[in-house]
Amino acid sequence: MQAKLAVLAGDGIGPEIVQQALKVLDRVAQVFGHQFETEDGLIGGIAIDAKGIALPDETVEICHRSDAVLLGAVGGPKWDNPRAAVRPEQGLLGIRKELDLFANVRPVKVSPYLLHASPLRPDVVAGVDLVVVRELTSGIYFGKRGRYLEGEEERAFDTMDYARSEVERVVRFACEMAAKRRKQVASVDKANVLEVSRLWREAATDVFSAYPALQSEHILVDACAMFLVRRPATFDVLVMGNLFGDVLTDEASMIAGSMGMLPSASLGAGTVGLYEPIHGSAPKYAGLDVANPLATILSGAMMLRHSLGLEKEATAVEAAVDKVLAEGYRTRDIHSGAPEETKVGTAAMGDLVAERIGY
Ligand code: NAD
Repeated sequence: MQAKLAVLAGDGIGPEIVQQALKVLDRVAQVFGHQFETEDGLIGGIAIDAKGIALPDETVEICHRSDAVLLGAVGGPKWDNPRAAVRPEQGLLGIRKELDLFANVRPVKVSPYLLHASPLRPDVVAGVDLVVVRELTSGIYFGKRGRYLEGEEERAFDTMDYARSEVERVVRFACEMAAKRRKQVASVDKANVLEVSRLWREAATDVFSAYPALQSEHILVDACAMFLVRRPATFDVLVMGNLFGDVLTDEASMIAGSMGMLPSASLGAGTVGLYEPIHGSAPKYAGLDVANPLATILSGAMMLRHSLGLEKEATAVEAAVDKVLAEGYRTRDIHSGAPEETKVGTAAMGDLVAERIGY
């Protein structure tokens, strides 16, 4: 097949991890006889430096004319002033909104070779294979906000606001995903306190009723935070709003041991999706050849599966990552020092995975 990919490397370790994913995709194209044409765009801090904004129009146009978007990470100390009018993360929020990518999908699967990389006990994390579906284009990150004075005191507010239709579409998305997996779905909310969560729960209940083959449940977000460390292997698909998803996905990432292992996809109604590692730009590691590129490589596998419909190729990438881990190769973040392990840098890890595609 022929596909056009928008490549937004971003800041910090972004360029070097994206380069490894492209190396692996090149190898996939060669082995399976595809053509992937790439077009680079600016996003985040590098875009602010070059164009004065985090998401230039040219970048949006590149994404619109592509079949999928591969993104590294944005941000760094140079631009991290929370009071600045122009900030790197505006690029991310903007492109997700622009492409109407309302569902952020974050699989957390624990490799049997990395059971000891997790801060949790190996018997707790063994067999974890869950997916968090986070609503991405609404909720408190997009609600009304402001600051005002009450007497002498400065106050600030943000508003968590959901339309029933926004809840229904993301819960439906999660149900469709659960139907293709182990047929369990849990909706996460704070319905004992928040009105917006009561609407969320009603809408989720309505959607669940259309999927009688699924085992569905509602879990309060505080309890969910606890269950994720106590019994993570019992979950299949979890669906939640933007804020709860932001927090719980980082918690869930620790189950796997390192942020450097976990991919994500942001998807909407169509097939164009945005694929990126769940971690940030780790500026302290930029250019040092120590960052783990596997989350970005696995994001590339998700892209092959969800946007390009190349299931066999996606599985080949995931199998190559498993093989490299089974052979003991580790970047610094997942290296335990055990004698059977070999510590490798970012570029070498990319080479190792690429070499194992198709063998
Ligand atoms: P971070 O994810 O960059 O780093 C958190 C920790 O994980 C650090 O200890 C880092 O060294 C480690 N880490 C992250 N990715 C790694 C990898 N691939 N290999 C090895 N170790 C890895 O988060 P942070 O330090 O809070 O933020 C750094 C910058 O990234 C900030 O500017 C922040 O705004 C930005 N950020 C961007 C995104 C994004 O682009 N999606 C997400 C989160 C943070």
